[in-house]
Amino acid sequence: MSVVAADEPVVIIGAGQAGTLTAEALRAGGHAGPITLLGEEPHAPYHRPPLSKAWLAGEIGEAQLMLRAPEMLAKKGITLRTGTRALAIDRAARQVRLEDGSVLPYAGLVLATGAAPRTLALPGADAPNVLPLRSRDDASRIAVALARCAEAQWPVVVIGGGFIGLEVAATARKKGLQVTVLEAAPRLLGRVLAPMLSDWFAELHRGKGVELELQARIECIETEGGEAVAVRLTDGRRLPCGLVVLGVGVSANDALARAAGLACEQGIVVDACARTADPRIVAAGDCTARRLADGSLLRLESVHNATEQSKSAAAALLGQERPFTATPWFWSDQYERKLQMAGLSSGAEAWALRGELGGAAFSVFHYRAGRLIAVDSVNDAKMHLLARKLLDAGVSPAPEQAADAGFDLTGLLAR
Ligand SMILES: Cc1cc2nc3c(=O)[nH]c(=O)nc-3n(C[C@H](O)[C@H](O)[C@H](O)COP(=O)(O)OP(=O)(O)OC[C@H]3O[C@@H](n4cnc5c(N)ncnc54)[C@H](O)[C@@H]3O)c2cc1C
Repeated sequence: MSVVAADEPVVIIGAGQAGTLTAEALRAGGHAGPITLLGEEPHAPYHRPPLSKAWLAGEIGEAQLMLRAPEMLAKKGITLRTGTRALAIDRAARQVRLEDGSVLPYAGLVLATGAAPRTLALPGADAPNVLPLRSRDDASRIAVALARCAEAQWPVVVIGGGFIGLEVAATARKKGLQVTVLEAAPRLLGRVLAPMLSDWFAELHRGKGVELELQARIECIETEGGEAVAVRLTDGRRLPCGLVVLGVGVSANDALARAAGLACEQGIVVDACARTADPRIVAAGDCTARRLADGSLLRLESVHNATEQSKSAAAALLGQERPFTATPWFWSDQYERKLQMAGLSSGAEAWALRGELGGAAFSVFHYRAGRLIAVDSVNDAKMHLLARKLLDAGVSPAPEQAADAGFDLTGLLAR
């Protein structure tokens, strides 16, 4: 039976990828009642991935950044309220309290509040030219700061060699800026990439002129007149800069859910169908931590996760079970290279390389306990799509087969 009757109101907190797609999935699934999509940002829903890539590089415009135009949502009878922050959830009264003091009643509530960039507890980290990158406004501030650095020939320091930090570094290099990336770990993207691929990415960036410091230890950010002018390392070195970009990860925005008494562990705890313990409340996207069958929690921050969970969340409010079981995938663009990752590589202990490392197209297969768990492809879109099929079907080619470019992996699916 449907949790929400066809004419009852649904409120969605967060007008990002997950919130917007949940609203549309509810309509597509037959919900006829009011749907209100609340977004605290002043913008209509937009795509976040280009913020560190084509948007920051100035290669795409407004229209390509937009996820859904307000008119399109209005046509579907979805009320978009931008610049509107939800302050609290009253589960007993089934109401959401907004910043302006008004309340919105709900029969079904979707939490799609995303995540917030982590900050650094370092002297100088609060200077106005030390900038995180999460929102469109953050990207605009970084774009202005990059232009200022280009003009004054000031170097840029990126703290954090994760995907966002590396994409910003690549974009800044494309603009001809001098860039240093500081990464605390001994390897780039060490928790997700095979050692050979993480070393290759380090060489890719160095080859493009990025100064890359692994195992970097930062003492402080030096300021003059309130602005960051250098990053000082604990070994005494001083890296002058006109901009510091922080790419040190995100934390789930779960404060509203926590205050409302919902279980949160580094994210709002949901099951495979995006349900919380309250049958009227579902959650989707970066704000969630998904409970897996073995009891562990999985936190993913990706477009695919937000998309899949939004379908599950809408289905749950409509009284259907739609577990998210598909193989997770992710991508990252750096220079002329597109990395596409299928599956989850944590715990991998053996790897097979298909193609030549650094060649025009190649893929790395991750194995745990002798079984394929993930495949990372570089400029190898065909293999990425095939890898998703293999992983979805639970088909595990032997490492020798994976490494043999002449071996037909597609044939394994047909068996
Ligand atoms: C720079 C960048 C590059 C990325 N690149 C990739 C990529 O290449 N591939 C990939 O798969 N993923 C990428 N991601 C991640 C991907 O964009 C996110 O996983 C996805 O946007 C998550 O969608 P979401 O709806 O859960 O959260 P969000 O898109 O963050 O949306 C949440 C929204 O909720 C709003 N909100 C929060 N609290 C409230 C409140 N109380 N009231 C009202 N509104 C509220 C927030 O302001 C925000 O607008 C990237 C992210 C960033 C920042």
